[in-house]
Amino acid sequence: MEPVPNQPFSYEPFPTSGVVAYFSMEIAIQPAMPTYSGGLGVLAGDTLRSAADLGVPLVAFTLAHRKGYFQQHLDGTGDQTEDVQPWNPTDFCTEEAVRVTVSVEDRVVTVRAWRYDLQGRSGHIVPIYLLDTDLDENFGWDRGLTDYLYGGDTNYRLQQEIVLGMGGARMANALGLRVNVYHMNEGHAALLTQALLESQLAGGHPGTVTDADIEQVRRKCVFTTHTPVPAGHDRFSSEQSIRILGGERTARIERLGCFENGLLNMTLLALRFSRYANGVAMQHGKVSRDMFPEYAVDSITNGVHAPTWVSEPFQQMLDTHLPAWRRDNLYLRNAIDLPDAEIINAHARAKETLLSEVASRTGLVLNPNVLTLGFARRAATYKRASLLLTQPERLLEIATRAGGLQILFAGKAHPQDSPGKSLIRHVIETAGNLSNDMLRIVYLENYAWDLGALLTAGVDVWVNTPRRPYEASGTSGMKAALNGVPSLSILDGWWIEGCIEGVTGWAIEDGANDEQEANALYAKLEKAVVPLYLDAKEKWARLMRTTLAFNGSYFNTNRMVKQYTRNAYYPAQMVERAQVEEPIYTR
Ligand SMILES: *Cc1c(COP(=O)(O)O)cnc(C)c1O
Repeated sequence: MEPVPNQPFSYEPFPTSGVVAYFSMEIAIQPAMPTYSGGLGVLAGDTLRSAADLGVPLVAFTLAHRKGYFQQHLDGTGDQTEDVQPWNPTDFCTEEAVRVTVSVEDRVVTVRAWRYDLQGRSGHIVPIYLLDTDLDENFGWDRGLTDYLYGGDTNYRLQQEIVLGMGGARMANALGLRVNVYHMNEGHAALLTQALLESQLAGGHPGTVTDADIEQVRRKCVFTTHTPVPAGHDRFSSEQSIRILGGERTARIERLGCFENGLLNMTLLALRFSRYANGVAMQHGKVSRDMFPEYAVDSITNGVHAPTWVSEPFQQMLDTHLPAWRRDNLYLRNAIDLPDAEIINAHARAKETLLSEVASRTGLVLNPNVLTLGFARRAATYKRASLLLTQPERLLEIATRAGGLQILFAGKAHPQDSPGKSLIRHVIETAGNLSNDMLRIVYLENYAWDLGALLTAGVDVWVNTPRRPYEASGTSGMKAALNGVPSLSILDGWWIEGCIEGVTGWAIEDGANDEQEANALYAKLEKAVVPLYLDAKEKWARLMRTTLAFNGSYFNTNRMVKQYTRNAYYPAQMVERAQVEEPIYTR
């Protein structure tokens, strides 16, 4: 059956009661809670922090992930090993008394919720409910369903998605929440649509699903996709779906057109049951429309929570000159008038903090006056961490010309990603061979929230080299921009919108293959980055100032949550397929 295009719907006016329920498989709540793996979780956490700041009536659902995302260890040769990071919900959360159940295979699984109160700057609270199946009444296997984030096989994943989607929707109901909008942050939560549909059918005509039934669910659901390539979408075999979700449910989902090439496709399921969907950058919206041409996929470009990611010295400077920046990040536009000397000093202090962390972790004392590049992200092969190291002689020449060069790498590979793990080994081995008095290359262990904050604030240039168009958005470069740090990056994801050549950083020109793009990267270092770094300090200060003014004022979750509120949750106008504006740029 053909997927049905978005239908016009009648929306409610801006509500005076009820909440948005935000669902995400991972949420970076605070650094001490290992409930996130990377970009998706950090985005979810930053979204909730801004919603709390803005007083948006919103609650969130995720899983407890009791064993945490892993701690990374790297030995001298770059071999990664992983340790679980168990944490105790009672240290941070309050247990809710209510219980709900979901069915997994042929078993009934009881779910409880731990509430974490996330407080915004105005005092408004966004409650986060961490779902947990570790209860005496559950069978041994089921007690572990909420232990590992992205652990186990696809059976485990589908079981977790039942707990998140169906368990979460039922928990919202059991808690007595009046939910106006269900927001699925990525396809992991798509099964919530089936919990809503089933509670609707129980009232009337089980067995058959009418268009009106679907419409009732659709008018409450919105969906954000984060995946730019078909292989990245969550998919399950028909056999798995029948075994784990049940035959009747599987048949219904298949009838509704949410299977593709014989596989249950969570993105299709979420799209089919949402009245609004979006990608996470302008290009990503377009890529998603090309993948799912029947659907109106809008774009809301990601951001980061400014007060979380701006370094202490920069916060002090901004509090002095632009005190309104915390309340409304748009005022960061006025950073264009910050005095050179203050920017230079604030950045020097952030760099000092970073370098002393490097020294305490590695014993290596780096030079604060030397150009320092940062590259930290998940060690997935498409991010090409080693592109910068492909022409050692040329890199040494650049280092010599610059009066020295320091490169800081960090990133975890997923435990089951062996190409990612060998990429880490390769970077560390090459770093060992190349490092000398002029060129220092360091790979830092256990990239997570704290290290991410230090790196994005303390380096001089933030480098990113994804293979186009795999980077849906990327957010670490936005953290850098909020600290006045320019990016040197492939024009992919957010950088297509964020790059103003020589003003917010530099583009690495597209090439036909890795070698050409490495050439373009070196050429930009030689012709633009190094000469400017060696030039008068005021010129670099001007670059930092324009980076902060242009990109800090826009690529933040304060702006992003306002867009979600008015375009997705409580729209003034329905977004139709024909009305989705195609990006006008040709980059
Ligand atoms: C910001 C952040 C990310 C996401 O950044 P990308 O640019 O998407 O790689 C991942 N991990 C950590 C720890 C972060 O702080």
